[in-house]
Amino acid sequence: MQYDITIVGAGIVGLATAFKILERKPDTKLLILEKEPGVAMHQTGNNSGVIHSGIYYRPGSLRALNCTRGYKQLLEFSDREGIPYDLCGKIIVATDEKEQAILATVLERGRQNGLDKIRMISAAEMKEKEPHVYGVEAIDVPYAGIIDFKSVADKLAEIVSTRMGAGLLFNQKVLNIYTRSGYSEIVTDKEVFSTKLVINTAGLHSDEIAALTIPKLDLRIIPFRGEYMTLKKEKEYLVKNLIYPTPDPDFPWLGVHFTRMIKGVVEAGPNAVFAFKKEGYKKSDISFHDLGRALSFGGFQKIMFKFMKFGLAEYYRSYNKAAFTKALQKLIPEIQKEDLLPGDSGVRALAVGRNGEMIDDFVFAENEWAVNVLNAPSPAATACLSIGESVAEKALARFS
Ligand SMILES: Cc1cc2nc3c(=O)[nH]c(=O)nc-3n(C[C@H](O)[C@H](O)[C@H](O)COP(=O)(O)OP(=O)(O)OC[C@H]3O[C@@H](n4cnc5c(N)ncnc54)[C@H](O)[C@@H]3O)c2cc1C
Repeated sequence: MQYDITIVGAGIVGLATAFKILERKPDTKLLILEKEPGVAMHQTGNNSGVIHSGIYYRPGSLRALNCTRGYKQLLEFSDREGIPYDLCGKIIVATDEKEQAILATVLERGRQNGLDKIRMISAAEMKEKEPHVYGVEAIDVPYAGIIDFKSVADKLAEIVSTRMGAGLLFNQKVLNIYTRSGYSEIVTDKEVFSTKLVINTAGLHSDEIAALTIPKLDLRIIPFRGEYMTLKKEKEYLVKNLIYPTPDPDFPWLGVHFTRMIKGVVEAGPNAVFAFKKEGYKKSDISFHDLGRALSFGGFQKIMFKFMKFGLAEYYRSYNKAAFTKALQKLIPEIQKEDLLPGDSGVRALAVGRNGEMIDDFVFAENEWAVNVLNAPSPAATACLSIGESVAEKALARFS
């Protein structure tokens, strides 16, 4: 059988893309290939489960636009399909004057992104919302919420494969793609599939899949592991909902926060350490292939030297629970080391450019044979349906 479109990767972005393609063009012969035995086993299934509002992102950026558009679509989809979520709101806390100044710019950004209901609240009002937090001021973000993105991915998979007729094959690791005139052959570790168009939503491996059709790729995916702790049951009262620090403008994705998860537990963290394996969830996980690819890339060498101090501090926190606790105490001073239990971890795919820049925005790259989603960091889970819509448009333009 020859497929019209084959999607590589059944994370939330690949599944949402399949959904949007079949919604627009139901007769598309569509196949999804996933190397794992199930959907959402990597970034999608190991994230913080926060429905982001879009407050942080540069106005006009793809992250800002897709977050706003995707937020609405995610809630509509979840309402329609009966997926539980809770728009519990979050606070972003400033603990000193310097952070207050940054917080004012975050508030301004959020307003530019159309979030009319966000507002600065005093320390007293903040204490009413989160009695155990220390801070001098905070932004109240009523839009933010919590959800289990694995449930969203499961539902999307069920809809595309059973209601919409897509093929969804597991344990099929894509190894190579040969482009011919008018079609491509996708070689997995088990079979060969023929398709007119490839869509690459392979997350942590999206650079390697893209390199099969774009020989000179200017970025590489570098894996960063985020390690969490959970609060002991009897200490969960310390956190009512979502408590975030003022973002560091240079490292907006760093900074420990507290997240009440939809499944009930309260997570604290994460730190962010360079992972020696793309899907390395444990400290001891190592892949010489992945490590070699990262270390041999000039762009990564540049950021390594530039941000050495921050990197080492993150490693220190990774191995030293007292240091991890100290970082958390900045927001909740009464938290003690004994209140924390080891939690899960997740690995983020961070795209780094050849010149050593961390690529902030979503990145898509297309050619005759393929549409690649090359950088889909947070809030890509919140924004999945909007990203899926954009990719579907790009893909279907070739079939009209
Ligand atoms: C720690 C952490 C916390 C986060 N918190 C949030 C949050 O609170 N809110 C939010 O909106 N976003 C959050 N994010 C971001 C969000 O989870 C990701 O942006 C999103 O899940 C990306 O989805 P994806 O489908 O692109 O990638 P993935 O979910 O990683 O899926 C990619 C899929 O491709 C498959 N694959 C890879 N290579 C191959 C191959 N060769 N052949 C076949 N299949 C292949 C993989 O097995 C995987 O299933 C977080 C991310 C992390 C890591």
